[in-house]
Amino acid sequence: MRFSGLRVLREGLTGNRGWQAQWRDATPRAEYDVVVIGGGGHGLATAYYLARNHGLTNVAVLEKGYLGGGNVGRNTTIVRANYFLPGNSEFYSHSLKLWEGLEAELNYNVMHSQRGLINLFHSDGQRDAFVRRGNAMRNRGDDAILLDRAGVRRHLPYLDFDNPRFPVYGGLYHPRGGTARHDAVAWGYARAASDLGVDIIQNCEVTGIDIARGAVTGVQTTRGAIRARKVAIVVAGRSSQVAAMAGMRLPIESHVLQAFVTEGLKPCVHHVVSFGMGHFYISQSDKGGLVFGGDLDFYASYAARGNLPMVEHVMEAGMALMPMIGNARVLRSWGGIMDMSPDGSPVIDRTHIDGLFLNCGWCYGGFKAVPGSGWSTAHLVATGEPHASAARFRLDRFETGRGLMDEEGTGAQHNLH
Ligand SMILES: Cc1cc2nc3c(=O)[nH]c(=O)nc-3n(C[C@H](O)[C@H](O)[C@H](O)COP(=O)(O)OP(=O)(O)OC[C@H]3O[C@@H](n4cnc5c(N)ncnc54)[C@H](O)[C@@H]3O)c2cc1C
Repeated sequence: MRFSGLRVLREGLTGNRGWQAQWRDATPRAEYDVVVIGGGGHGLATAYYLARNHGLTNVAVLEKGYLGGGNVGRNTTIVRANYFLPGNSEFYSHSLKLWEGLEAELNYNVMHSQRGLINLFHSDGQRDAFVRRGNAMRNRGDDAILLDRAGVRRHLPYLDFDNPRFPVYGGLYHPRGGTARHDAVAWGYARAASDLGVDIIQNCEVTGIDIARGAVTGVQTTRGAIRARKVAIVVAGRSSQVAAMAGMRLPIESHVLQAFVTEGLKPCVHHVVSFGMGHFYISQSDKGGLVFGGDLDFYASYAARGNLPMVEHVMEAGMALMPMIGNARVLRSWGGIMDMSPDGSPVIDRTHIDGLFLNCGWCYGGFKAVPGSGWSTAHLVATGEPHASAARFRLDRFETGRGLMDEEGTGAQHNLH
């Protein structure tokens, strides 16, 4: 079933009785060429590109809960390509280009909105760092514009520019940055993958990984054993637990990150605004809610809810940046489980077990990575070789110390990234 304006019109005039299920509710088969563990954004995108780019359709995505129940449906939806370091820079640049054609590609409205992202700076030193970052972005072919204080004021007149602690000096404007509707991305990829023949299987938890003579042979699940020649672990916050089923100990810690949404308001925040010094970022959803978040809760946990000290910290940062936000009522908040890597950058790699692949370490930035990650993980699984855009996302960098990508310069402490 294809979506189109005409179709919406016809369904509207005929009682909306023609809509069909978005994807097949598949029953697990005994064997697949590829099993993808995890039905989040990355797992679903991997399955889609396996089918679309490599013609591999005997593929199952196994999801222990429901699609959109993990981080893919819990994030603050910021999509951008403003990374500095080689490795990250080419990967996110590729991912943003895929975002730009995604709705046409999937025939699905993921509400991708390139409303522009402004990263604020508050000192001369920070300005220098943003100038370097902006130059790196432009060298990569992406967009970056340095705004002085007056320039930021033209875009964001509601900020407190003279905040005594962090007066606004200017900002780095990334016009192609923006937002998308998070769970629609999961639904869009699931629907498109299912149309190409991929089995999307919900309520199917992987409980074991079968290995014989150094090669993966399949998985154990709550719905029975499934044989597979290749298995990809794509479970974000649960990466350490699932990799442990294959006897691996990952350099990943799982931390909680919270998000907050206010009541619906008339349009007032027209960009994505990032206030790094206060650990605060905000945008406004199409329904009118202000969507914002802050820093990690600073301890390892698998609880998908956060704690009050961080709530207070985020609210304080919001008030410091834009006092008008004090008039809005917060309607809801939630937490997600972040797969934090030591250098803040991800892993897309083979493992020492033949046929077993690993995709993890997305920290709090993996939503924007979904298309690029799916593309390059599919490439790795299908060909056995890393895709050029993700060639530096090697697991062994944490063992050898070579090729670390410490984008934020915070050192090897997971909860500081
Ligand atoms: C509050 C918050 C704000 C964020 N903001 C942003 C942002 O603005 N921009 C950005 O780019 N990123 C952001 N992120 C990060 C982003 O959401 C994640 O990095 C990304 O979604 C992780 O990849 P995923 O979608 O595949 O994860 P998930 O959706 O978590 O998918 C993993 C799936 O694996 C399943 N699974 C786990 N164990 C098993 C098992 N044993 N068997 C079967 N299935 C299993 C889980 O149920 C889950 O559905 C944010 C995250 C949070 C929590």
